[in-house]
Amino acid sequence: MSSGTSVQEPKLRNYVNGVWRASTATEFVEVVNPATAEVLTSTPLSTRADVEAAVQTAAEAFPAWRRTPPGERIQYLFKLKNLLEEHIDELARLITLENGKTFGEAKAELRRGIENVEVACGIPMMMQGYNLEDVTPGVDETMIRQPLGVVAAITPFNFPAMIPFWFLPYAIACGNTLVVKPSERVPLTMRRAIELIEQTGIPKGVVNLVNGGREVVDALCDHPKVRAISFVGSTPVAKHVYARAAASGKRMQCQGGAKNHVIVLPDADMELATQIISDSAFGCAGQRCLAVSVAVTIGEAQKTFRDAIAQAASAIRVGSGLDSGVQMGPVITRESKQRIESLIGAGVGEGAKPVVDGRNTKIPNHEHGNFLKPTVLDGLPSSSQLAHTEIFGPVLSLVHANSMDEAMEFLSRSPYGNQASLFTTSGSAARRFRYEAPAGNIGINIGVAAPMAYFPFSGWKESFFGILHGQGRDAVEFYTESKVVIERWSRQETRKF
Ligand code: NAD
Repeated sequence: MSSGTSVQEPKLRNYVNGVWRASTATEFVEVVNPATAEVLTSTPLSTRADVEAAVQTAAEAFPAWRRTPPGERIQYLFKLKNLLEEHIDELARLITLENGKTFGEAKAELRRGIENVEVACGIPMMMQGYNLEDVTPGVDETMIRQPLGVVAAITPFNFPAMIPFWFLPYAIACGNTLVVKPSERVPLTMRRAIELIEQTGIPKGVVNLVNGGREVVDALCDHPKVRAISFVGSTPVAKHVYARAAASGKRMQCQGGAKNHVIVLPDADMELATQIISDSAFGCAGQRCLAVSVAVTIGEAQKTFRDAIAQAASAIRVGSGLDSGVQMGPVITRESKQRIESLIGAGVGEGAKPVVDGRNTKIPNHEHGNFLKPTVLDGLPSSSQLAHTEIFGPVLSLVHANSMDEAMEFLSRSPYGNQASLFTTSGSAARRFRYEAPAGNIGINIGVAAPMAYFPFSGWKESFFGILHGQGRDAVEFYTESKVVIERWSRQETRKF
């Protein structure tokens, strides 16, 4: 498969009121293929005026969309599901081009995105409220769910399709209108996805896209007509967005960064654990918010797991995500590569031993790509700074603990709480872990504990700010307001008929 791109648009446009229109931006960010350094296009850093136009359009589209019966609204989602399936290879290729992950990983991400479209097709059931007659004699009470109005989604670079689709299908199925702002580093996937949404015939203004960065985000946070924001990205930005949008009274769900731990007990099936943890730590070049970043080994697992994971990490084939047989692609930018290499150096400085060292990687014919090979840092002290710092690259640190108590205490000190996993064959250890582990997504003999679309994508501590999560029932609650109606009708009225 060629790595050339068919993108014909040197400066991307925004999609507002069913029309692709130029942004008023004066600044642009280059979108660079991480495997080749080829410039694919450039993203406009849109302005407050662009946000104003999109929000205004979405606000105008809301009354009619809200009155469209849920059963009709989801017809557009059924069409979208089919279009996404038809174009899955084309979309996956775009993801690989702009993000760097392998073509297989890109297809897997789309599969999870499509799953959210499928689940949102159940809105006519999921959006129902509840009621009770005779809460006092002759008085009935009903809870109904109503859409909020204009909502916004702000998304990161690491899942150019899946993360926007954690929000978009539920938001519109519930009757809201939407402004989506993809990451300025990977805007091409959503551009194409919006073209497919357009093909469904959905009314103009229901879905809008504004490209950009901080100015767009802040304008969405401040805009009085935006009722709710779904955000996914790093913790400092998640905190910023949470605070800024709360200041104007918005409903928020902000997913932040992560540092995910796995505990490996000596009774684990070591072959299975190694294969799964290797995929979790190094898949998508470690740029998954659920990537395992620290393995805490207990007892003899210190040696058995270290030797096995070092072997697995060394065997991973790194290269361009479009080349067949490649298992791991580049990281997103040159700066990310430098940051990851410097964090590996910091870990070594804190006492870890790089048993597999992926720094200074050069891939033949891809000398300009942002490649690193998998890295395993053995014996990272649990008190080190790196033990609690998000690396967001293909680096697995090994920390040793003498007991499950010690391992759990280490986990409890993490500022993050996105995911925690345990590998064991012991039911009681598994139950204890499920009960006590301080994270929102828990895996037992699972490496990437990514909830299916019909469960909430959880996250605790500095990994999530808000109450209601993305996906499933939480999404329906997030995107609707509950209204309670209490009714009394006089008996004399009925006697008339
Ligand atoms: P990022 O925080 O740099 O960017 C996320 C979004 O915020 C982008 O749309 C970007 O344009 C915008 N943004 C960036 N800086 C901003 C600023 N100063 N003010 C306002 N808006 C700003 O994140 P990223 O590098 O794109 O993504 C990687 C991060 O996302 C990692 O920390 C990863 O753990 C996290 N992540 C978390 C989850 C989760 O479910 N918890 C999922 C995916 C990624």
